[in-house]
Amino acid sequence: MQGFLNSVRDRVSRFMYGRYGGDQLGMTLVVASVVCTVVASLAGWRWLSLLSIVLVLVELWRMLSRDHAARSNENQAFLSAVATPRAWVRRQQGKWANRKTKAYVRCPHCHAEFALPKGKGRLRATCPKCGQKSEHTV
Ligand SMILES: [Zn+2]
Repeated sequence: MQGFLNSVRDRVSRFMYGRYGGDQLGMTLVVASVVCTVVASLAGWRWLSLLSIVLVLVELWRMLSRDHAARSNENQAFLSAVATPRAWVRRQQGKWANRKTKAYVRCPHCHAEFALPKGKGRLRATCPKCGQKSEHTV
């Protein structure tokens, strides 16, 4: 049995040698496929389960591809396309983590958002972006 498993592992290793493998775009495709499958089964939408199969097939094709440069370029394009929403999510996570100690206010001049210590009453603050002074109740 152990010899058989080793033989299978060796064959899989040889098969995967030189192939691209997984990346962030691939993981996103797999997660999207799982979400599509769940929604499709709950809502009974057959077309969505077909889409989930297409997503898995695209990811399989990408993982087994030997063209590393092209797959890497796709991944970089994906990462730069989602950079703004990812940064927004990170900022929201930081705001949520600091919600008990910081109040987030907007500059009335340039509308930039910045943090002030929470519970200090009325504060006069200097905007870190435009340098204008403004008053905020926190
Ligand atoms: Zn400002």
